[in-house]
Amino acid sequence: MERKSIVEIKDISMTYHTLDGETEAIKDINLNIDKGEIVSLVGPSGCGKSTLLSIIAGLIEPSKGKVLIKGKEVKGPTKEIGYMFQRDHLFEWRTIIENVLIGLEIQGKVNEENYKYAEKLLDIYGLSDFKEKFPRQLSGGMRQRAALIRTLVVKPDLLLLDEPFSALDYQTRLAIADEIGIILKKEEKTALMVTHDIAEAISMADRVIVLSKRPATIKDIIPINLSCPGGVRTPMKCREAPEFRHYFNQIWKELDIHV
Ligand code: ADP
Repeated sequence: MERKSIVEIKDISMTYHTLDGETEAIKDINLNIDKGEIVSLVGPSGCGKSTLLSIIAGLIEPSKGKVLIKGKEVKGPTKEIGYMFQRDHLFEWRTIIENVLIGLEIQGKVNEENYKYAEKLLDIYGLSDFKEKFPRQLSGGMRQRAALIRTLVVKPDLLLLDEPFSALDYQTRLAIADEIGIILKKEEKTALMVTHDIAEAISMADRVIVLSKRPATIKDIIPINLSCPGGVRTPMKCREAPEFRHYFNQIWKELDIHV
């Protein structure tokens, strides 16, 4: 039988030891993420969000607890996980198609079927005319889309998005968050996204996880149910839902931000 939860985060705690002393970054985090679910992670700056993402990715080992992906314990970087960062990390000397194929190349999986899949994704998401262009010839939004396609072609079970739109200007950010939200749902991807933008967190996710101040613990888990206008559930439309403001105020209060 297929497992419902792709990701199981079990009792994770992390304390950094440095010459200056100890920093308890995260404490007793338990969380399951189901197949096809998009989960946003919000929390005060410096609370431990990147630490948690790095542990899930197998880049650092937790002090306590474990992470399972499809029932298998994460012991190091694994091809089951794809990433999308603030910067797109496209290689400037490679064309868009060459950039998109890089993950497959590393895994030794460039074959006709995968190449066709890469072309199909470029086509569906409006980049087929830019296949042979170089990253500098694309807009910021298009570059992020190319970066996402590069991640999707290797068919990861889980996508980790770390503030993926922070480097973009506000208008582009809205548009690309909308597009990427639609792509993730259409491709039935499971994703965990860190963002400091409350509206982005609500509009893109099925659940929002609110973390406490450091050491990060889970303060609240909020399932998002929005009645989007016309029944069209895209991130942009979700912002117009009547319940949106309610979620925004709730998360704002829980984050307890003091300027
Ligand atoms: P966030 O992503 O929420 O801003 P981080 O996970 O980057 O938070 O950091 C959480 C805490 O852990 C911070 O106090 C930070 O200074 C500390 N920290 C992060 N990485 C390290 C490290 N490699 N060594 C020591 N302390 C670290």
